[in-house]
Amino acid sequence: MFLCMNLFFFVAGVCIGSFLNVCIYRLPQNQSILYPPSHCGVCRQRLQILDLIPVFSYLFSRGHCRHCGAAYSSRYTIVELLTGCLFIWCYTVFGIGFPLIKALILTSFLLVITYIDYDHQLILDKVLLFMAGAGALIECLTPSVGLLSMLVGSLAGGGLLLLIAIVSKGGMGGGDIKLATVLGIYLGAKLTLLALFLSFVIGGVVAVFILLLKRKGRRDCIPFGPFIAAGAFLSLLYGQELIRWYWNLCMG
Ligand SMILES: [Zn+2]
Repeated sequence: MFLCMNLFFFVAGVCIGSFLNVCIYRLPQNQSILYPPSHCGVCRQRLQILDLIPVFSYLFSRGHCRHCGAAYSSRYTIVELLTGCLFIWCYTVFGIGFPLIKALILTSFLLVITYIDYDHQLILDKVLLFMAGAGALIECLTPSVGLLSMLVGSLAGGGLLLLIAIVSKGGMGGGDIKLATVLGIYLGAKLTLLALFLSFVIGGVVAVFILLLKRKGRRDCIPFGPFIAAGAFLSLLYGQELIRWYWNLCMG
């Protein structure tokens, strides 16, 4: 039964991931995510049913367009597989219920934000607006955070990054500040601050590795959105436990 549910959430994640790919690719170019249907970026030929099956289409076509032979980026398949794995992860932590639905929705938004920020060093306002709206709707349907905690989380999260942006003179982008503000709606005060703390830790570790590998020069900027997204994901899944563990550590 457990295995069966895992498979279900993996397949669901892979299919949602396929849609997230469309968002990641088209939203920064101001294109509609509904029309036109998926097509080859080179020859414009519309994709056939077989080409639209996530993951498998990549295996069937060996990553090339059936018509013109143009190579597709393996990125699409990676995003699909990653979404599937993250969906299983959420299900393993939350089981069936409203917290799972909230986790899957937040995860989907975070994936779109992560990849667009990675590609364009940009967090789009329209994505953040949809994310905020969805978060507010979920909170209305099944209150779990509470209005006060939401407000404090948004103000504290956004305020903290704004402060860092001012002190570091542009080390933090406007999109990062807005993202932290929206996270308050989903996570509430404590988990939002934990998410940002985790994002600094993860970002710091990754930055050290990148500098050691000399992949980027000290002056190149590394988008911070993906780290906020990773911090938010971990905070949503393990935040309560982490805070409890830390509290016991201090008390003991
Ligand atoms: Zn083609």
